[in-house]
Amino acid sequence: MLKMDKSQQLFATACGLMPGGVNSPVRAFKSVGMDPLFIEKAAGCRIYDVDHNEYIDYVGSWGPLILGHSHPEVIEAIIKAAEKGTSYGTPCPGEVELASLITEAIPSVEKIRMVNSGTEATMSAIRVARAYTGRDKIVKFAGCYHGHGDSFLVQAGSGMLTLGAPSSPGVPASIAQHTLVAEYNDLASVEKIFTEEGRNIAAVIVEPVAANMGLVLPHREFLAGLRKITELYGSVLIFDEVITGFRTCYGGFQNYVGITPDLTTLGKIIGGGLPVGAYGGKKELMDLVSPVGDVYQAGTLSGNPLAMAAGAATLKILQSKDWYERLEVAGYFMVTRLKKVFEDADRFYTINRLGSMFTIFFNEQDETIEDYQAVKRSNAEEYGRFYRQLLAEGIYLPPSQFEVCFISCAHELQDIELTVNAFMRALEKLDA
Ligand SMILES: *Cc1c(COP(=O)(O)O)cnc(C)c1O
Repeated sequence: MLKMDKSQQLFATACGLMPGGVNSPVRAFKSVGMDPLFIEKAAGCRIYDVDHNEYIDYVGSWGPLILGHSHPEVIEAIIKAAEKGTSYGTPCPGEVELASLITEAIPSVEKIRMVNSGTEATMSAIRVARAYTGRDKIVKFAGCYHGHGDSFLVQAGSGMLTLGAPSSPGVPASIAQHTLVAEYNDLASVEKIFTEEGRNIAAVIVEPVAANMGLVLPHREFLAGLRKITELYGSVLIFDEVITGFRTCYGGFQNYVGITPDLTTLGKIIGGGLPVGAYGGKKELMDLVSPVGDVYQAGTLSGNPLAMAAGAATLKILQSKDWYERLEVAGYFMVTRLKKVFEDADRFYTINRLGSMFTIFFNEQDETIEDYQAVKRSNAEEYGRFYRQLLAEGIYLPPSQFEVCFISCAHELQDIELTVNAFMRALEKLDA
């Protein structure tokens, strides 16, 4: 059994100090039926908890750490920046460097604004879209996550017209009603909304690869269709690439599929493990932002020199080698081996994968999972049981069925081999 004494002591104290003992809800491990681990340090593909357990990590801080933990060059860049001060509240050279790297890598991002989180990026992007179009409504997709802004904590209501209803207490119905909810990979659901409300829709926001309901890949026609319909109605197309930016290739997923949005939101990888977000796109839209235009958006720590240094170091390393080909090989190897392990154990789960991202859906059979309805049919309880076994074998997956596993550049093929063997043992124990 996993030794968790110190984690449990810390958790007991934390629970008296912070809601649920955590600063972000999935970390609480509720959906896998246990208490969270407190991590003390991390290096490469491994993390270490306060009870000195070691794990091969497939969370990577929920996506940012594509190079693995504590990459020496990233750490060095942060230290060098810190020695020159942690924040000036003025423009600094690091902002120009990171902004250049991103705009060169993602051509649709002609101008960019740095913020401090993905949540801030999406909130600001829809503000720009609303200002540009003079319209209030936005369209989002069931199962896509865009941070915790009021306009996004919305689920399909019961009305004829998927009028948004708050999915969290504290979100005014008067705000939620401006968010219309469509089905991912279902263009007909989008067309229906546009037929009725098209002239009032400021923006469609979408994760070009859905990675917050487990991994769900887009149909090519789906993204192309969104481009077409938004153009037709003069609405802004926003790709939320907070996860996918620099994850599937050097640039956005938009580079990979060749579909150009009007605005792009970024975060995670571009901060190299420090708190960062960014939004950018067409000059015409971005020049509406203050101080050029009147759309107000500001940030005390935006463009922070440490975060800029970590982000720029990360992108430069990603550029320096064939990392994305290696990640593809690692992802292919991992998932091919895991499928075999499950088959040998007479289990036929669905595994969705794109490059270094994958999700194992603990469903009844190997079926295609390409929308939120299908995702919801998976057995989260079985995932939880398996999760606890796997953790005891030294493998750290996201503590929820509906999150994505990330492979990093620091995962060597032998780490994956170790992982596959651990899966085999965990499955045997599950059956015992
Ligand atoms: C993580 C995420 C966000 C929110 O970013 P935070 O930095 O957690 O605020 C927004 N959109 C997507 C697609 C994300 O994965």
